[in-house]
Amino acid sequence: MIIVIRRDARDEDVLPLMEHLRGRGLILQEIVGESTRMIGLAGDTSSLPEETLLSHRCVEKVTRIQEPYKLVGRKFHPEDSVVDVAGKKIGGGYFSVIAGPCSVESEEQILSIAREVKDSGAGFLRGGAFKPRTSPYAFMGLGLDGLELLKIAKQKTGLPIVTEIMSSEHLDAFAQDVDVIQIGARNMQNFTLLREVGALKKTVLLKRGMSSTLDELLMAAEYLAAAGTSQIIFCERGIRTFETATRNTLDISAVPVLKSKSHLPVVVDPSHATGYWQLVSSMSLAAVAAGADGLIIEVHNRPEAALCDGAQSITPIVFHQLMGKIAQVRAAI
Ligand code: PEP
Ligand code: MN
Repeated sequence: MIIVIRRDARDEDVLPLMEHLRGRGLILQEIVGESTRMIGLAGDTSSLPEETLLSHRCVEKVTRIQEPYKLVGRKFHPEDSVVDVAGKKIGGGYFSVIAGPCSVESEEQILSIAREVKDSGAGFLRGGAFKPRTSPYAFMGLGLDGLELLKIAKQKTGLPIVTEIMSSEHLDAFAQDVDVIQIGARNMQNFTLLREVGALKKTVLLKRGMSSTLDELLMAAEYLAAAGTSQIIFCERGIRTFETATRNTLDISAVPVLKSKSHLPVVVDPSHATGYWQLVSSMSLAAVAAGADGLIIEVHNRPEAALCDGAQSITPIVFHQLMGKIAQVRAAI
């Protein structure tokens, strides 16, 4: 970290600041030029907020060199992490597809979709039991009953389950029954929830907030890691832009950017990113070509009757065809 000192700063303001920084165990190197005075800081500056330094009247500017995400950053962990869920792996060369409906609707629905996506090669079953909906009058999911249906589908197919947690009141149920706990886009910066879910030490699928930067996503993952879990998967699910042709704009560059900054695996959600089933296959292939470690895709056996996100859900037949194309692209790259 480099601190630029104001030209008109007095020693009696600067010296106490330097003393304070040394007291935090940092090594200081002062550079005094004709018109500039700077202090270089070496050591762990991750818990030193820029705004605290800027509140000192003698400080003009602060430049961070070291990323504030130590646990999820690549710097201290150069190799790719492999997330392992009961033998199913994602990251470090392992690729897996998470597939299933937006929401669990009935036993017949979740079982039939689970069987079909498994037959086509999916590694995990997704399905929302607790749904974050924009309208308070929309279908909110089956709640704990939905979780029970996911458990039945897991028992019958062997597919581990991925489902979203929305409230800490369900931590115990998720700790017991869910293989991969999803933190949705709307909760990416729910810091209390991140801490509580991280402390469960389970696998977490962390979705990017719809207006969040990649640095904010990395810091959200740092919350999870600092709370105790090392099994974290990033999910790029599209961000808000001025474009209205799609539900969100898929930021495909998030894949190589996140992978350069972090050792954790990255999956892409082409369903929420685009909002239209017709765009899901091409965006899935683009994500694979960009180096994604996996995909999370909404599949419904009757999209026209889906209680949530039918327009972006592909049918099991389209999913089957897509899995064939994904294998071809993976082989090509
Ligand atoms: C979902 O996966 O069903 C979902 C609600 O996703 P997101 O949080 O990305 O909107
Ligand atoms: Mn959905």
